[in-house]
Amino acid sequence: MPEFIADIRDIKFALIEQAGVEKLFSLPKYKELDLDTINAILDEAYKFAKNQMGPMNALGDSPGAQYDPETKKVTLPDSFKETYKLFCENGWLALAHNPEYGGQGMPYSLTLAANDFFFGSCLSFCLNALLTTGAGHLVETFGSDDLKRIYLEKMYTGEWGGTMCLTEAGAGSDVGACRTKAKQDGDHYLIEGEKIFISSGDQDMTANICHAVLARIEGAPEGTKGLSLFLVPKFRVNADGSLGQPNDVYCSGIEHKMGIHGSPTCTLIFGEENKCQGFLLGEANKGMRAMFQMMNEARISVGLQGAALSNAAYQLALAYTRDRVQGSNLLTGKQANIIDHPDVRQMLMWQKAYSEGCRALLLRTAMFYDLSESAESEEERARYHGYLELLTPVCKSYASDMGFKSTELSVQTMGGYGYLTEYGVEQLMRDTKIASIYEGTNGIQALDLMGRKMPAKGGMNFQSLMQMMMQLGGENADHPILKDDIKLLGDALNALITAALHFASVGKEQPIQAILNATPYLDLFGQVVVGWLLMEQAVIAFPKLGAIAKDKGVDVADLKAMAKLCNDNEEAKFYAGKVKVAQFYARRSLPICAAKAEILKSGDLSPLEIPL
Ligand SMILES: Cc1cc2nc3c(=O)[nH]c(=O)nc-3n(C[C@H](O)[C@H](O)[C@H](O)COP(=O)(O)OP(=O)(O)OC[C@H]3O[C@@H](n4cnc5c(N)ncnc54)[C@H](O)[C@@H]3O)c2cc1C
Repeated sequence: MPEFIADIRDIKFALIEQAGVEKLFSLPKYKELDLDTINAILDEAYKFAKNQMGPMNALGDSPGAQYDPETKKVTLPDSFKETYKLFCENGWLALAHNPEYGGQGMPYSLTLAANDFFFGSCLSFCLNALLTTGAGHLVETFGSDDLKRIYLEKMYTGEWGGTMCLTEAGAGSDVGACRTKAKQDGDHYLIEGEKIFISSGDQDMTANICHAVLARIEGAPEGTKGLSLFLVPKFRVNADGSLGQPNDVYCSGIEHKMGIHGSPTCTLIFGEENKCQGFLLGEANKGMRAMFQMMNEARISVGLQGAALSNAAYQLALAYTRDRVQGSNLLTGKQANIIDHPDVRQMLMWQKAYSEGCRALLLRTAMFYDLSESAESEEERARYHGYLELLTPVCKSYASDMGFKSTELSVQTMGGYGYLTEYGVEQLMRDTKIASIYEGTNGIQALDLMGRKMPAKGGMNFQSLMQMMMQLGGENADHPILKDDIKLLGDALNALITAALHFASVGKEQPIQAILNATPYLDLFGQVVVGWLLMEQAVIAFPKLGAIAKDKGVDVADLKAMAKLCNDNEEAKFYAGKVKVAQFYARRSLPICAAKAEILKSGDLSPLEIPL
């Protein structure tokens, strides 16, 4: 298995130079933070991912997690357990969480940047840790003081694990069809039912597992309006925080699946002996609203899974193409490394554009999250919250779809070797696929964008985001080298806006138009937003490239001299790559947006008319 490689320069660029993490340092919450600390944390995260996690990735694929039907227990590879201990001791688990309960209190955007390394190096390991802090955050927001005192620190420090339990055999996308029951019994509830597909529903890394479970209290209404949220521990907990009896919840099996084999996907049986105690989180019948906190956090994280794995696969493909000798160079006639072949270069460019563009989308959205929590005025917090709401389904879906597409291109780029286990990219492709399915399928995300997020606040969030995006074009309409590409971005933005206006006007009278077109609309949205972010990167990079050239006495108009500069100077090469990939995407992807908008507006209903 090849060594994990990440482009740490690109992660720092997206977080520091583009998303502007420095903005946070003036806020009271982050007044102790500075750029040296941010850089040091990212350097350490990369080291941990490379040295500790990357070498486990193959084990995460095979043998992965194992289930013993005799003991009804799941075991993970030994190296997962050792690494988990170090991961928690080093404070990586709850980097952005409340220091009062053992978290590190860092910005969410920094956590996401660190997770880019962790997910890319061994996703299945990370999935075993990921949901713990989300479940802990539910306890922090919705739990009683007693629950917080007993559970929270143990969860944020990783001593106990956490899960989210929504799915049942009859309740997948339709969470409201949930049949798990809850019956009040003194100060707690008795839970009874079966949940399926529960990530890390059982594992042997932590002493206890705290399940966040959606269930219906006896007599509650049907649908999501009758769901309540409960904290259900695997082992009961005594008042002093020590572990008590098993809590009548067990794993009856794990799924065999395409990827993420090191993340056990469990069927959990609650209350077979009518002794499974659950503790209400928040108010009765408001469980779905509470669970949305965890789902929204997880959705951004799932988008990052797509971006991180596609970046990891791209790095492997890039390294491979530099070494692999095959055929001859069309221009020189000399023996070629495959990176010299135009078709291979084009595949690499798409991978770079999707991977780095989606990374920028994720980190910018995470910055909106930080600002929505901590910006000084309420007005600003509301504005950033609006962007966060709008972009969450786009992050989840577009980054997972493009992540899969990009890892598939990495396999193709490496030819037969890409198809072999030993070269690593086929596992990344298989591991990425799940991101478009769980945490609400991408089809459900598209409906959320079209039906809820676009019309929210009378469309003001969308308008405000579009204004911010248009500002880049307005300020750079005469850019010395990017002006034509910026015009292409402007045309793509107009296409997105006309499609949005179309659905705003026909949506009420012909909702089927909006429903049928939700997925291609989200795809168009993601395509344009990524085009904007790549262009913004180019605008930032161009003067920096110019400054390096000036410093080295190179004329930027002299293409040969610039090529040599990029060969000799890593920073120049990086910034030149940023300019070129934005131009590539603007010229080869953005012109398609107008045609896509026309299709969306066409009124075509053929998928509904064809007998299948
Ligand atoms: C590896 C793995 C890990 C998972 N981890 C967890 C976990 O930790 N916790 C948890 O609770 N769940 C988990 N899940 C479950 C996951 O969230 C569901 O599989 C997912 O939400 C889809 O539900 P479903 O599989 O029943 O598909 P279905 O709901 O049957 O959907 C099938 C297809 O129909 C489409 N569809 C369904 N309804 C609609 C609709 N109303 N409008 C338009 N299209 C629709 C979907 O988009 C999809 O394409 C996991 C699943 C897997 C495979």
